[in-house]
Amino acid sequence: MTPLVEIKDLKKYHPLRQGYIFSKRRGEVRAVDGVSFSISEGETLGLVGESGCGKSTLGRTILRLEEPDSGSIVFRSEDITHIKAKDMKWWRKEAQMVFQDPKNSLDPRMTVGNSIEEALIIHDMGDQKKRERRVKELMIKVGLEPDLMARYPHELSGGQQQRIGIARALAVNPKLIVADEPVSALDVSVQAQILNLLADLKKELGLSYLFIAHNLWVIRYISDRVAIMYLGKIVELADKKELFRSPLHPYTEALLSALPGKKDRIILKGEVPSPVDPPSGCRFHPRCPRRFDRCEREEPELKDICKGHFVMCHLY
Ligand code: SF4
Repeated sequence: MTPLVEIKDLKKYHPLRQGYIFSKRRGEVRAVDGVSFSISEGETLGLVGESGCGKSTLGRTILRLEEPDSGSIVFRSEDITHIKAKDMKWWRKEAQMVFQDPKNSLDPRMTVGNSIEEALIIHDMGDQKKRERRVKELMIKVGLEPDLMARYPHELSGGQQQRIGIARALAVNPKLIVADEPVSALDVSVQAQILNLLADLKKELGLSYLFIAHNLWVIRYISDRVAIMYLGKIVELADKKELFRSPLHPYTEALLSALPGKKDRIILKGEVPSPVDPPSGCRFHPRCPRRFDRCEREEPELKDICKGHFVMCHLY
């Protein structure tokens, strides 16, 4: 499949400062620390990892909501890593975000219709009549009655608010959607509806998703391929079926062992180390049940073990 977006050795560190007025840099949080992968046209890449592993920063950096420190982001052969402000409008049309908390991602003072229309106005898309038609069309597309256009976000349920968030993201006809935990704030019964909606829209509109979640069931349901992130790095990446059937990295094995129906649960010892001062060698070594001498000394590389099944571990 043709890659839509290619990420190479991407890094994003957040400075740690001390003091209020003349604050000094006291180190950095290595939120994204040398990440490479691609997403094909029409593909959903699920990105999973514990809270604080850097997955949201990675999504925001790809969208250029945060400035990368190094590495590259290439979209359909265009290098957008250091895109200038004047070209940002173009990039915002190609790539959009669906946020975790639908309530806070919508302006409470704007009607639902105005919220969706705002994206069209920013991108000079059509006159008022055309925009109104487009807003109605988008509401129908995401499963909402156009009558809700005059309502305010607080008058809607969480599921309806997230549908509005999706309609806003779709308004400018993007090709790539970064969905950051889009169902985790919703009731379980509504989660399935939103996941189905996203899956249907992908097929209908030929979208590609970077789908960020901590819930493995959600990732398993929606993804074509899955990337596992630990302390700022992708430690395993494979086709969904392959990854759930034959996980290779000890961290992935532990994560998957917690799924219902699995016999031998692997309980990891210790806390996730700080991304300010990650462990030497393999970052997972202090918690890894299969570590050996080399693990503490030498950092493993992400290697293609078999037909697109990548793993970062000295065991392979
Ligand atoms: Fe465990 Fe060593 Fe593999 Fe790291 S490199 S995951 S410590 S076995």
